[in-house]
Amino acid sequence: MSWAMGVVRASQPAGAAAARASWLGQAMAACACQAQGPRLMAAWLCTSASNVATVKRKLLQNFHCEKPVRHSKVSIIGAGSVGMACAVSILLKGLSDELALVDANESKLKGEAMDLQHGSSFLKMPSIVCSKDYLVTANSSLVIITAGARQERGETRLNLVQRNVAIFKLMISNIIQHSPSCKLIVVSNPVDILTYVAWKLSALPHSHVIGSGCNLDTARFRFLIGQKLGIHSESCHGWVLGEHGDSSVPVWSGVNVAGVPLQHLNSEIGTDRDPEQWENVHKEVVASAYEIIKMKGYTSWAIGLSVADLTESILKNLRRTHPVSTRIKGLYGIDKEVFLSVPCVLGGSGISDVVKIKLTPGEEARLKRSANTLWDIQKELRL
Ligand code: NAD
Repeated sequence: MSWAMGVVRASQPAGAAAARASWLGQAMAACACQAQGPRLMAAWLCTSASNVATVKRKLLQNFHCEKPVRHSKVSIIGAGSVGMACAVSILLKGLSDELALVDANESKLKGEAMDLQHGSSFLKMPSIVCSKDYLVTANSSLVIITAGARQERGETRLNLVQRNVAIFKLMISNIIQHSPSCKLIVVSNPVDILTYVAWKLSALPHSHVIGSGCNLDTARFRFLIGQKLGIHSESCHGWVLGEHGDSSVPVWSGVNVAGVPLQHLNSEIGTDRDPEQWENVHKEVVASAYEIIKMKGYTSWAIGLSVADLTESILKNLRRTHPVSTRIKGLYGIDKEVFLSVPCVLGGSGISDVVKIKLTPGEEARLKRSANTLWDIQKELRL
């Protein structure tokens, strides 16, 4: 029985649900390809062999029973504000042919899934399924983890860690059981530490475990630079690296528009001596999550859009560079087992390369401080 059907059944009036369930039951029972994976099969793949004159039988002449073909399945764990923003952003880009949602809160999960399914006429993704059971995620190419305890007002991301480690233990083993060779994108905070935790618990190669890291911080940075210059953020190039959050490092030496480094125009850019105070741009980046949470209770849209961008690079094997969190040991003089954001080449096999960005001694020292901040917490974790 398809999981998509499970959602519809649970939500329809008893009569309609029973009729639909019984029709789908017949179709599934009659279909020879049921043996290939009945629980994950989309309902429309098979036509009933019964002679009952249904509308479908009158409308369609079935040539053959299609085998389910899954090219790229994305699963999102956590159907909260961030998970649903990721889901909508991925759906609108039509990036995969199946989206599976998992959440511990079954009622919210079913409500969210139904709401998305009802938008199917406007989407190019044929199957949206959900369940509390991780079986629904089986054979995912990519699993996006957004589940976890939410950052409370004024709470630092690092304070969240131990609460989320407990959740990850169960979650990761369930994901890997059903999709042993998937790629993971970790979004839950503190994202760099939880990416390390996911890597440790999953035993996946580190190239397959990607933290959304500073992808959002960098997007915020480029937006704010664009606002100052009156230029679209896509044309304002710059990177925020290191820890996602309070100790992130803006790489002022690389900020440029059309290849013109802003540091050539203002040698003090990003320092306390800068009369234009460009450093405030990075201060705003760091403060912005706290600001948004203060105003609307959570952040969602920008992180959802940024995760869909990462998803696109992976599923389309684009090999674009993104500031995502990866195992950084051995680079920039860092000898700790930590995950931090550096520019990574992201494609079909996850992170294939790291771009060796040239940092100033000051920037490298800040990156090392980020690594030490994370390691101080990580070394205390009981996994
Ligand atoms: P939320 O509370 O709205 O959603 C979290 C969801 O996880 C809830 O629906 C909850 O039921 C579910 N959940 C909790 N435990 C679970 C479990 N064991 N199994 C399955 N589902 C479970 O929170 P949110 O606002 O969506 O934020 C989610 C996470 O994303 C937080 O950790 C937040 O700090 C983080 N976040 C990260 C970034 C980033 O840039 N990396 C940006 C924004 C938010």
